[in-house]
Amino acid sequence: MLLLSALGELPKLDFAIFADTGWEPARVYSHLDRVEREIADPAGIPILRVSAGNIRKDALGPAHRFASMPLHILNRDGSPGMSRRQCTGEYKIKPIKRQVRGLLGYPYPSRIPRDVHVEQWIGISTDEFHRAKDSDVRYARNRFPLLELGMSRDDCLSLLAEHGLQSTPKSSCLGCPFHGNAQWRQIRDETPEEWADVVEFDAQIRAGNARANADGRPLLGQAYLHRSRVPLGEAPIDRLTRREQLALDEQQAAEEAEFGPEDGYSPYSCRSGDPVA
Ligand code: SF4
Repeated sequence: MLLLSALGELPKLDFAIFADTGWEPARVYSHLDRVEREIADPAGIPILRVSAGNIRKDALGPAHRFASMPLHILNRDGSPGMSRRQCTGEYKIKPIKRQVRGLLGYPYPSRIPRDVHVEQWIGISTDEFHRAKDSDVRYARNRFPLLELGMSRDDCLSLLAEHGLQSTPKSSCLGCPFHGNAQWRQIRDETPEEWADVVEFDAQIRAGNARANADGRPLLGQAYLHRSRVPLGEAPIDRLTRREQLALDEQQAAEEAEFGPEDGYSPYSCRSGDPVA
């Protein structure tokens, strides 16, 4: 949306807001800096970075009131569960609302007149249209420009690629329990220091929320980041989902169409021409 606005395909934004949980992958922060430098600044669109603290530190600090992450729980009787997700509201929605009220000139707790509101754009594409909802506050009216333009996720990726932004990373907390195996593998294989960080965090949250434990409300079970409810370092993250397997099959078929069938795996049979006997 920022790019479309900078290109003049959408009206010019007054501001863009990035809600920082303090625990995004390094590549997200460097991408944000780049987008600010190359797109937002030249277009005169300020990027406001807002934050309610560092979600990783808060999760491990017994003194901190912590909005829980959606951890995978293994109950004492062996049944699976999940802790309630409060983190999005606490670390993303709340600081954005605070910033919006500030921009309107009515910081909390001042009353905002009925006729004062912002138009708030949310980047939901056609693949996830069911996530588009009205705002729950009167001072923000939600709009979904990508839906209005009929843009899918692939359309967005093509547009980004056309403008040299094909490396746009996914924004989410490094240790988000919603990660699929592909995201865990990417962290493990591409940024080993971030992998060590999430594996350590996973071990530290096994007994649940540090504050709740300090308050004498221990978790009656064990908490995990990976949905297999196995310590992250040992979790079966190399297992492919059906969708990944299908994509792999398609890729293999496309390669065979272009380069011929696979010759085999001996060192002398590289795929380069006729099969080697
Ligand atoms: S990315 Fe995951 S852990 Fe981070 S705020 Fe969102 S749901 Fe919570």
